[in-house]
Amino acid sequence: MLKKIPLRIRFVLVASMFLLVSCVALMLLSNVSAVQMMEVITVAPSISGDSIAMTSLTPASPIDQPYYHIFQRKTAIATAVIVLVGSVATYFASGYVLKPICDLSKEVQKRNIENLGQPIQLPQSADEIRQLTQSFNQMMTDLQRSFSLQKEFSANAAHELRTPLAVMQAKLEIFALSESQNEATLEMVSAMNRQLERLSKLIEDLLWFSKDLSLERREPVPLYPLFCDVVEELSELAKRKSIKINIAETDCYVMGQDRLLERVFYNLLENAVKYSPPHSQVTITAEKEPGLVRIQVADQGDGIPENFREAVFEPFFRVDKSRSRAVGGSGLGLAVCKKILERHHAQITVRPNKPLGSIFKIIFPS
Ligand code: ADP
Repeated sequence: MLKKIPLRIRFVLVASMFLLVSCVALMLLSNVSAVQMMEVITVAPSISGDSIAMTSLTPASPIDQPYYHIFQRKTAIATAVIVLVGSVATYFASGYVLKPICDLSKEVQKRNIENLGQPIQLPQSADEIRQLTQSFNQMMTDLQRSFSLQKEFSANAAHELRTPLAVMQAKLEIFALSESQNEATLEMVSAMNRQLERLSKLIEDLLWFSKDLSLERREPVPLYPLFCDVVEELSELAKRKSIKINIAETDCYVMGQDRLLERVFYNLLENAVKYSPPHSQVTITAEKEPGLVRIQVADQGDGIPENFREAVFEPFFRVDKSRSRAVGGSGLGLAVCKKILERHHAQITVRPNKPLGSIFKIIFPS
């Protein structure tokens, strides 16, 4: 139970217990010794004629003496006062002693994936806290290096794969154009093309995911033209499934970088089309409210089960792997959206659409 109490209070409780036990022991000892002393030194005056002589008496038990009761009360009060003052002093002293730990803990809490490599300032003291801070800084530097290596590796791998893939796609296209093909060969070529498309989409997503995605500049980005550009890019995909994408006209704008924001709406609208049945509708709206801009992408697709509504923003998470694979999903699209939106201090959530489908909601501070 003691483990659930903060360290400072635990420290005070333990110190107070020690103080209480020591003071009570001291009080009992002094009481016993007082009784013994009183038995030895109790004397009474005896008057004979004009002279007064001191005669030793055998008193009634010293415990019955009024002085003894006063002494007992005083020692009890002194014990209580010492324990109380000692506990308060321990509370303040422990605050002083634990302050470097509290400061270190606050600094550690400020660390996240973005500022892992930023070292915590070493305290002036040459104690255990300094050692702990040094070890923590070292651990964070190693972690940062390992993260960078991982990112670099996936970025390089994706980059290196892009060129041979493009060459293969081009060669296949030329091969498909030659006249001497029979039906079976053409079918095989088209299947290979589909797989190559999937691969190049995965590589593109990987490249986006391994990018730093930090904002080079922030400028007003008008949303309506941006939505129109993205819808134009996706028109071929939407046409194939006879899906209508509606854009509500708006004069809203957000602060950020258009190239990155375009990727966010591309991924969201592409998902809305990918995961919706043919002949359904997808709608994108933007509204201004006091202090914020709210953007919503609504579809009439399968929707996302409640227990997966946070997990879909994690890298490589897919609600239904086979469905996602069938539509060419990598599981990175929403993770990239989240990463970019975080850089814009915006939040993204998903909730069900009525009667069916999903609504992705993004809130930008304005
Ligand atoms: P993917 O490349 O697989 O689409 P995403 O990160 O874009 O990866 O999405 C993660 C998962 O979330 C998808 O695999 C899919 O299961 C689910 N999902 C995303 N958008 C939608 C949507 N509009 N409707 C239904 N499910 C969706």
